[in-house]
Amino acid sequence: MARLLEGKPVADKIKEELKRQIGSLKKKPVLASIQAGDNAGSAAYVKSQQKTAQNLGIEYQLHNLNQGINEAELIKFIQKLNSDNTINGIIIQMPLPSQIDYKKISQFIAPEKDAEGMHPANIGKIVFGKANILPCTPAAVMELIKETGVDLYGKEVVVVGHSEIVGKPLSLLLLEKFATVTVCHIGTSKAGKLEEHVRKAEILIVAVGKASLIKGDWIKEGAIVIDVGINRLGDKIVGDVEFEAAEKRAAWITPVPGGVGPLTVTMLMRNLVEAAKLQ
Ligand code: NDP
Repeated sequence: MARLLEGKPVADKIKEELKRQIGSLKKKPVLASIQAGDNAGSAAYVKSQQKTAQNLGIEYQLHNLNQGINEAELIKFIQKLNSDNTINGIIIQMPLPSQIDYKKISQFIAPEKDAEGMHPANIGKIVFGKANILPCTPAAVMELIKETGVDLYGKEVVVVGHSEIVGKPLSLLLLEKFATVTVCHIGTSKAGKLEEHVRKAEILIVAVGKASLIKGDWIKEGAIVIDVGINRLGDKIVGDVEFEAAEKRAAWITPVPGGVGPLTVTMLMRNLVEAAKLQ
């Protein structure tokens, strides 16, 4: 039976270290959070970020912009925050009004204030092994793997999902640790090869968003299984892996909820502290 790889205890340890680092900064770090329009979709995230920031001694500034804002106005607002020396990091809350292209406007955040670690300049630094600001979900996955004590060097790691926010940057971080990385995606599934790849994974990371995509009996005995997926089934939240069957075969498995999720906000705050140290 697998050991549970829970996010909260790992997050708590990192938060203790962050508190120490924040204590040695000259001033309290400031995170500016931009919300535009209807806030229902991002309300829970903002609340959780506010709470974490407060506990760590970070100032959280919430900027509510109106639903009708256009891209040029939003870019101007971001540029104002970029040039404000009192602000260390910027985050844009999703969803945005339909007239705003997130990919376009997020590139206007100064790379040194990119709290989400998604600016092309920061993603590019991962390729050169020089990143200190990392995309939050991939960074959370790396922390969970570290927690198992397993060395990634030469391990067969299979990542399912190749999105820009999870699978692609995560694959680069894993390569940096000399893992042998296989990245699976819709093409792999359509070619009927997903099971074959998953079966060889010593470490399996799944970030797709489809409940039961990964069958429990595909899991290699003794594998580490990190399930990033979030799927609502009625009033239940489940991941992408069949948990009950998978936990009988794996050595470590993340619960959903309670695995990757609790760590991502902590990674956001870690980026902010890194940003504050760099500025
Ligand atoms: P995306 O929809 O952007 O990406 C999903 C990926 O899965 C794509 O690469 C897609 O390929 C691939 N895919 C779709 N269907 C299949 C299939 N049948 N077999 C193999 N691959 C497939 O999602 P995200 O990366 O943003 O998120 C993935 C999941 O992780 C979601 O459930 C999301 O809610 C969750 N999540 C959880 C977080 C947390 O903190 N716990 C944070 C971020 C995400 P293609 O694009 O080619 O179709």
